[in-house]
Amino acid sequence: MEDIEPHTDEDIPIPERDAVTPNERLHWHLTNALVSAESPETTAHLREALSVYQDLPPTPLVECPLCGKVGLPERIRTHECQ
Ligand SMILES: [Zn+2]
Repeated sequence: MEDIEPHTDEDIPIPERDAVTPNERLHWHLTNALVSAESPETTAHLREALSVYQDLPPTPLVECPLCGKVGLPERIRTHECQ
């Protein structure tokens, strides 16, 4: 999570699919939708969705059996193993 910051200053620059986890993409889309939401009802739905997201259980970290690197399963699957 160290290098992913949502961009809110331009037209929906969708992050590279491989650069973020599905959870991060979900959070990113919700956050960006909230920024551009115009109706109070939509805003309320998005705030609720974000609070539900924050209540989701965290993804357990896994350890690479080869190099010992610890991280999200999606990251470990694609990391550059040393
Ligand atoms: Zn490794």
